[in-house]
Amino acid sequence: MKAHDGMYIDGAWRPAAGRDTIAVVNPADEQVIAEVPAGGAEDVDAAVRAARAALPAWAATAPAERAARIAALRDVLVARKDEIARTVTAELGAPLPFSQAVHAGVPVLVAGSYAELAASYAFEEKVGNSTVYAEPVGVVGAITPWNYPLHQIVAKVAAALAAGCTVVLKPAEDTPLTAQLFAEAVHEAGVPAGVFNLVTGLGPVAGQALAEHDGVDLVSFTGSTAVGKRIGATAGAAVKRVALELGGKSANVILPSADLARAVGVGVANVMGNSGQTCSAWTRMLVHTSQYDEAVALAAEAAAKYGDRIGPLVNAKQHARVRGYIEKGVAEGARLVAGGPEAPREQGYFVSPTVFADVTPEMTIAQEEIFGPVVSLIRYEDEDDALRIANGTVYGLAGAVWAGDDAEAVAFARRMDTGQVDINGGRFNPLAPFGGYKQSGVGRELGSHGLAEYLQTKSLQF
Ligand code: NAD
Repeated sequence: MKAHDGMYIDGAWRPAAGRDTIAVVNPADEQVIAEVPAGGAEDVDAAVRAARAALPAWAATAPAERAARIAALRDVLVARKDEIARTVTAELGAPLPFSQAVHAGVPVLVAGSYAELAASYAFEEKVGNSTVYAEPVGVVGAITPWNYPLHQIVAKVAAALAAGCTVVLKPAEDTPLTAQLFAEAVHEAGVPAGVFNLVTGLGPVAGQALAEHDGVDLVSFTGSTAVGKRIGATAGAAVKRVALELGGKSANVILPSADLARAVGVGVANVMGNSGQTCSAWTRMLVHTSQYDEAVALAAEAAAKYGDRIGPLVNAKQHARVRGYIEKGVAEGARLVAGGPEAPREQGYFVSPTVFADVTPEMTIAQEEIFGPVVSLIRYEDEDDALRIANGTVYGLAGAVWAGDDAEAVAFARRMDTGQVDINGGRFNPLAPFGGYKQSGVGRELGSHGLAEYLQTKSLQF
């Protein structure tokens, strides 16, 4: 796609207030592929004003009409899925088949689910002598990361539009082209002017201006825990609503009764997908001491099979950061059994699929989010030990449990401090609430729980 030299505000592409730009780099070959404007406070202000002006009419629109617009948006995403996949591959680096299946495919499912929910949700209920209305929260400031660039936009925007909110989106610096494509799709879908607005720009400039703007009623942020804490503090000081989807360090718990080969194989694949840049990736594999050596061999073999098939990391900074974590793992005494810190290619931000054995729960690589293709195998003695290790980080976003039968896995999963757990390889469900316990966040996305984030209640007593 061709980059727009402007912001999408009030239904049209408009020049930015300033002249600063952001270079978009293809991480596979380090070439600049486009420039987009780096917006500032003035652009954010114009976008928020447009969203406020559009709010009363959109909030009053019949849910069936909102559902029709979101269904039209889904149809545009379907019609343009090849262009979406190519754009994500160009700016994120994901291999094209992964971009087609996941980066372009999942947003279609999520947009479709909100088209249905907008039409079927009970925006009004009777409670005793009261009628309770679920009303839109107002203007949403949405701030998204680069790792699932379209999914994270759609998870926020489709839910907000279904609720009757209007939106200003500030996407990640690394993936603005996907966001511009999304704005084109919103326009093509006939969403009224001002209901959705896009400001590209730097986080500490445009992102911060959006989070601090008085005209924003709810800040919905997905990104790092460090930035999320600041946004939460800013929103708290202004008594503004906030939803935070933050980092993770999820555990893949393999109980002794599980099918070990399958659990290890799926576990490694879960981390290598998207080059390890998945907030919910199961980066800690917990294996009983009696099966540990076998699991290490299986994991090393599974990682080696990936070889060249994974894409690069998103940018030079992440490349240096992830390789630094691998060096730290070695320095702290973990044993490399696949991959390592050396860059496997001269060009592009590639890291080899990496597996560490002999990782102890206190090591840096077992505590901090690496956000790269790195799996750590940790040994446990019994179930209580496994639970202590699984729950022993500041995060609680996701996880997996494998056992001989689902009931045994469920019993363990219920004791985990985490927002979602896949039982024996359970599939992704776009209607299930997604979000974190502990420092992985506040609030939920997807399905009816995700819709409820954008609603506030008003009770009328009779
Ligand atoms: P990041 O926090 O650096 O940036 C996320 C977004 O915030 C970007 O749009 C960025 O421009 C903006 N931003 C940066 N500084 C800001 C500031 N001071 N004020 C306002 N906005 C600011 O995160 P990232 O590196 O882009 O993304 C990776 C992180 O996102 C990882 O930690 C990952 O776990 C997390 N993540 C979480 C989820 C989830 O659902 N829980 C999903 C995907 C990614």
